Amino acid sequence: MATVKLYVLSSGLLWAEKGFLFNFGTQEDTGEKYEPESVAGISCQYFIDHSDAKILFDLGWNMEDFSKLKGFPQRENEDGKEIEQAPDENPKSQLEKIGVSIDEIDYVVISHLMAEHAGWLPLFREKKARIIVQKKELEYAYANKDRSRFAPEPFHSWMYWSRHFDHPDLNYELVEGDRELVDGVQIMHTPGHTPGYQIMKVRLQKSGPIVLSACETWHNYYGVGVNAVAPGIPHCFSYSYGDELRNFRKIKQIVGEEKGQIFFGHDYKQFQTLKKVPEYYD
Ligand SMILES: [Zn+2]
Repeated sequence: MATVKLYVLSSGLLWAEKGFLFNFGTQEDTGEKYEPESVAGISCQYFIDHSDAKILFDLGWNMEDFSKLKGFPQRENEDGKEIEQAPDENPKSQLEKIGVSIDEIDYVVISHLMAEHAGWLPLFREKKARIIVQKKELEYAYANKDRSRFAPEPFHSWMYWSRHFDHPDLNYELVEGDRELVDGVQIMHTPGHTPGYQIMKVRLQKSGPIVLSACETWHNYYGVGVNAVAPGIPHCFSYSYGDELRNFRKIKQIVGEEKGQIFFGHDYKQFQTLKKVPEYYD
């Protein structure tokens, strides 16, 4: 039987206006008045150490890019900070904590190619790692890249930076739909936030199934949105809100049936409760 360990890696903190993150419900829907507020968001990366393959899921953001972004959508916290990243909050340094080199990585799965998930992709140029993205996502990234004039999603376009993903020496393997990468490690195509958005599910012996939902917080699945009759709040900018909500519902159903749990990649509150590298889930 395969042995599998799941590590949670950190990529530092970003503060944003909460209205940038979610489509909130009206006061009538939610019983709560919307108040502007700065919310801290983590950007998780995950390392799956499987006896058949070493897998990274998402790569976080890099300081060089984000220190150039000023103001909206970032919003200062009480201490006047918009971003915070320690020098070791990148995939290479996080893996070094457990003696793993990026040269050993077999697969880099990317949920979607936006800047806070694909920021360290150039680290994998000329490496053996196969970069697993949905074919639709790479097409969407090229269509939107660097604020393309003809971008299908103008609001998204600033988050697709070609310097992250547009390199001929990145070893892409494009997938369409769901795929079992190795025994017990699944890629699930969950379009909505973007057309090629994907998440992962890892089956662990002791901890059970864990869904790695890279670009979400608890609120996306369980908060109450506009005119909502059921929980679930799409991101404030998404390619398809309907698809996104349908996929949240699908994941919640799977997690319910399989008695699993969801790790929310942007949820700082949950992140504080999780084991971090060098500790792991098995
Ligand atoms: Zn995200």
